[in-house]
Amino acid sequence: MDRIVYVDRDRCIDVSSRIKTIGVVYRRMLDGVHVDLEYKLRLLLYFTAICYDTRRVWGYIDGVYYRGSDYIYHAMLKKLMEGEFFDTDRMRELSLEEFGQWFEEGVLTRIDERLKFIRDTARMLELFYDGMASKLIEESGYRLSGSGGFVDRLSRFKAFSDPLAKKIMVLASLIEFEGLAFFKDSDSMEVGVDYHLQRIALRTGMVRIADRSLSERIARGRFVSKPIHDAIRGSCLEAYRIIIDEAGFKPREVDAIFWNLGRSCCSIRRPSCKPPCIHSDICSFTTSTTYECMGGCILGGICEASGNRDFIKLKEPRYRTYYY
Ligand code: SF4
Repeated sequence: MDRIVYVDRDRCIDVSSRIKTIGVVYRRMLDGVHVDLEYKLRLLLYFTAICYDTRRVWGYIDGVYYRGSDYIYHAMLKKLMEGEFFDTDRMRELSLEEFGQWFEEGVLTRIDERLKFIRDTARMLELFYDGMASKLIEESGYRLSGSGGFVDRLSRFKAFSDPLAKKIMVLASLIEFEGLAFFKDSDSMEVGVDYHLQRIALRTGMVRIADRSLSERIARGRFVSKPIHDAIRGSCLEAYRIIIDEAGFKPREVDAIFWNLGRSCCSIRRPSCKPPCIHSDICSFTTSTTYECMGGCILGGICEASGNRDFIKLKEPRYRTYYY
């Protein structure tokens, strides 16, 4: 895989110089939910277990439209507020019909597979932690890294078995953002490399594809092999590490910035590189950061794709996975 894909360090530094001009805003959603800490942790655990490939997921909760992972989260949060405490006994036996009812006002793809992850997560939680998400964190010693740390323990659950630990990092970030627990070594966190972060890395030129035919393949949305997918994703992780170092942000802040940029400005088909923006009605970048938007992407001008049509055609490599 040598040199088929590589990290452009100078471009990463350019990107970080723009990114560090803004801050991250996180509005806690669980503060006003008056249930036991354990139930909030279980909500986040099961939510992240099934939070992947959300591109065609959407729906309404109490008349409000949500898309992607927001819909999954709010549908599950509604269940929690209605008294669903995600007990392992119930989750292990959850039927497809019951699971489907959580999402009855919208569309949830890969539903059978997601249900298997709910059941398996419940089985593992029962087997090793008496069904308690809080015990999993306690037994990790509030450490993410190292033997017996949170990542090590959770990666034994099938839903969290991604070698780059994307969902584990999202879960750890949410736990901290919500103030439910804090990890002693949270600076050891990585970003969760998902399709948004890969698309931005390729379009900006932070990660470059040296092979023209592969570049065209990605632009056309053709499936790529596992070695190529892993090489691109690994390079993306490296690129975002440079951003973390250069911008001086916590990994979870960098993750939040690029995830929201990817699902708002840098959409697959019609990215908002320059004004006017057509995504302002669904933008989560402006609500999750301090960016004062004038109608164009924060990376406009320094992103390769903002001046090169070949790069705008790039998207995340097509690859079927439950890792992100
Ligand atoms: S400038 Fe355009 S292509 Fe580049 S990151 Fe922003 S929206 Fe995406």
